[in-house]
Amino acid sequence: SQALHINQTDVLIIGAGPAGLMLANWLSRCGVKTRIVDKRGTKIFNGQADGLTCRTLEIFDSFDLAHRAWRESNHMLEICFWNPDESGTIRRSGRIPDTIPGISRFQQAVLHQGRIERFFLDSIKEHSDITVERGVLPTSFDFDIGKAGDFDDYPITVTLQTLSEKEATPQQRNQHQKSAEGEQTTVSDGLFRSNLAADDTDDLINAANANKGDGHHIETVQAKFMVGCDGAHSWVRRQLGFSLQGDSTDYVWGVLDIIPLTDFPDIRQRCAIHSASSGSVMIIPRENKLVRLYIQLQATEHAQSEGKVDRSWITPDIILQSAQKIMHPYKLDYSYCDWWTAYQIGQRVGDNFSLHDRVFLAGDAVHTHSPKAGQGMNVSMQDTYNLGWKLAHVVKGYSDGSILKTYQSERRRIAQDLIAFDHRFSRLFSGRPAKDIMDEEGVSMEEFKSAFEKGNEFTSGIAVNYGASVIVAKDGNAQEQGDGTDVIGNQLLRSISKPQLATGIDIGKRMPSFKVLNQSDARPWHLQELLKSNGRWRLIVFPGNLTLSENMQRMQKLGEKLGASDSFLRHYTPPSQPIDSLIEVLTVHAGPRTSLELLDLPEAFHPYDKKEGWDYWKVFVDDQSYYEGHGQAYVNYGIDPSRGASVIIRPDQYVSWVGDMGDYDEMAKFFSGFMKPQVARSI
Ligand code: FAD
Repeated sequence: SQALHINQTDVLIIGAGPAGLMLANWLSRCGVKTRIVDKRGTKIFNGQADGLTCRTLEIFDSFDLAHRAWRESNHMLEICFWNPDESGTIRRSGRIPDTIPGISRFQQAVLHQGRIERFFLDSIKEHSDITVERGVLPTSFDFDIGKAGDFDDYPITVTLQTLSEKEATPQQRNQHQKSAEGEQTTVSDGLFRSNLAADDTDDLINAANANKGDGHHIETVQAKFMVGCDGAHSWVRRQLGFSLQGDSTDYVWGVLDIIPLTDFPDIRQRCAIHSASSGSVMIIPRENKLVRLYIQLQATEHAQSEGKVDRSWITPDIILQSAQKIMHPYKLDYSYCDWWTAYQIGQRVGDNFSLHDRVFLAGDAVHTHSPKAGQGMNVSMQDTYNLGWKLAHVVKGYSDGSILKTYQSERRRIAQDLIAFDHRFSRLFSGRPAKDIMDEEGVSMEEFKSAFEKGNEFTSGIAVNYGASVIVAKDGNAQEQGDGTDVIGNQLLRSISKPQLATGIDIGKRMPSFKVLNQSDARPWHLQELLKSNGRWRLIVFPGNLTLSENMQRMQKLGEKLGASDSFLRHYTPPSQPIDSLIEVLTVHAGPRTSLELLDLPEAFHPYDKKEGWDYWKVFVDDQSYYEGHGQAYVNYGIDPSRGASVIIRPDQYVSWVGDMGDYDEMAKFFSGFMKPQVARSI
């Protein structure tokens, strides 16, 4: 009764949490044939991760999603520290800004994971016909290593099985609560996705196998690439035989999302509260009047022999009572609980993120850590934000496979940094406050505050700095960065950056953003708003002051070369596509705006289309705006307006190369390190 279908797809994504959906979203923008499956019958509706860092919001903005998150979320502007005084009573001991002022145009915000998943689903639907196939689970995996070297071939074969509705619906251990009006309602818990609950993947596979004849659709899929975004218990990771390394601690965290009834004065601020001897709580004020409490439960005495904690004793009341003790003498209660969960902290990172650059792991499948710094969902989405465009460019034949090696070299280091950060931070957060300087076992609250402040840059996501590789032209041995075997060949071709020409831009970091004005209509834009995530590389030419004749001459010369029929732009762009579809050239001159007419610049800087005329959205100026001040882009980027510079930016907004404004040959050399000529171009 089972029909065996074999279907082919370019990319098969297992798991539709934040990591899987970010990837599907990228691929939807790049027109890549994609399947995405999830064993659960529905997305999540409340609870779980909630923090959105500045970098995540910048990324959302590049996909035109940020406005939805920004509007619905609660914005986090201040952190308050509460510690015991000499008498042991908690007191506010300090305040700091939640996001370091000036590092991003966004500040940290919170909104629950279910809404983020919703934004992705809407966006994917708008840009493609990819749909999440729910209640579908892979049951077998086969990898043909003989096909791994040919990126047009399908080395991966997976059996997908559809579950019954019942199997695809996780069991909730619902708690009854009384609403303010005295009605009985139920609260959903997150335990079915918690690592304190046993993973049910094997049970589901067994059940589905046992019920094969019973309407369970079975399909065989061949894929060029597969990405395991299937969470901490990752089935894909198990198929590859890869493991996570690190510790599992005895700390169990309780999480409660409530509408609080309290006299605690800072309930609408993010707070870290250390009590004298009852533990610590983190308060996260949320959207819709909710507040999240993260509490470390004193769990060790409940630990079972095999090290996994018995969770049956954990209830919302237990979590509330712990919070009440910590926050004493302030009162805390609630009439409404939206969600709650408990989980055990494991700080682990995967030993390997990819199998032959054909199967990849991302998100919780390769790193797990505590929730306090709000990193889980962010780092998971940023993994696949890193991977998505690379897969798309290889599938489409724009790039050779060497760029895929940078996924592991770039993201594994981030995961390791995250685990190290979480280790330090957990100790400080979970430890008992020191009574005085002689109390060596206690944690110094000054040290905690300073670690928090320093950690803020790391947790914002802005500090990410990718190492040297074929797509990051900076000093450093790419081999040491784990950048693979073809390094020697690539090094011969590799272009060298001149970082001194733009001292405010770090090669390997995301392009910082300042306001510039459109040359044609004077509208101010944040530079980052011009760097949409649509799969394009960008060459930003900063020609400096174009009233200087040598700058104008250099600009004319560069324009001629870029516009020539044998330019690298033509070389790498499929002839059927617009000239800016692989590498978009943007210009930011040093002004004044009124000293230049757009059409004085060569066509390469504002391409002409027979139907749409000149492109008025490519040339910008660093000048005073009418209503929004002056972005001082040249000063902030550290570019000398008498000399200028050029910057190459990856499709994910990270800076690849900095060189002289007119250094066409070095630019061409950079792209030749990994891009594939589009053969039909002479037609
Ligand atoms: P997940 O969100 O776990 O998504 C994995 C997806 O894969 C799921 O949809 C799952 O159904 C699916 N899947 C799993 N196995 C298979 C399979 N074999 N076949 C098909 N599909 C499969 N982070 C915070 O920052 N703050 C928090 O408060 C917080 N609370 C959390 C509470 C809980 C209970 C859990 C589990 C995590 C919490 N996290 C929190 C972490 C955060 O949710 C994760 O870091 C983030 O969701 C990781 O995203 P992901 O896409 O990698 O994995």
